[in-house]
Amino acid sequence: MRYLLCTGNPGKAKELREMLPPGIELATLNDFDLPKDLPETGRTFAENALQKARLGHERSGLPAIADDSGLEVEALGGAPGVDSAFYAGPQKDDRANVAKLLRVLEGATDRRARFRTVIALVDGEGEHLFEGEVQGRIALEARGSNGFGYDPVFVPDAAEQTFAELPPETKNAISHRSHAVWKLARHLAEHG
Ligand code: IMP
Repeated sequence: MRYLLCTGNPGKAKELREMLPPGIELATLNDFDLPKDLPETGRTFAENALQKARLGHERSGLPAIADDSGLEVEALGGAPGVDSAFYAGPQKDDRANVAKLLRVLEGATDRRARFRTVIALVDGEGEHLFEGEVQGRIALEARGSNGFGYDPVFVPDAAEQTFAELPPETKNAISHRSHAVWKLARHLAEHG
């Protein structure tokens, strides 16, 4: 069975390929002349994932898979949320985003946060959503050099190290994205 994966991020494509059941072939946005950044104008992760998967399905005729993720900080009412990539401005700068978050949380004692991912699957029969999350807290300063985004300041529950200090395999075993991908993989294994 062939699916369209609506992401221009090669890291995500690789991670998904490794976790999906055998026999599943993933086409890329490139194969259908689609831009690598599909529009995401929703105000929730689910809206954005569905927006991209619907467009991908419409344009390719294939069942389409898309995701959206971000960081939700308790003391900020869930911000930066869907704006995670652009928190410090349109330039999508990970370091500036982290610096802004640390500044905004300066002196805050409630530093609880979670990463969330929503994956949408849109096919001829309907729409499905698969959600994953990992709970943790925002560190007092950035630490570590692995990963991307907010990894240097996110300490998952039951750990002392940030995602950027933990080995990538450890992050991948507990991350929001892998939880959502497992749910998708189980659905595909059961429904083909
Ligand atoms: P995306 O929807 O997966 O592209 O994620 C949007 C933004 O959320 C990224 O640009 C990061 O700022 C943040 N983010 C999502 N997942 C992670 C993660 O696993 N680690 C760190 N930051 C993340």
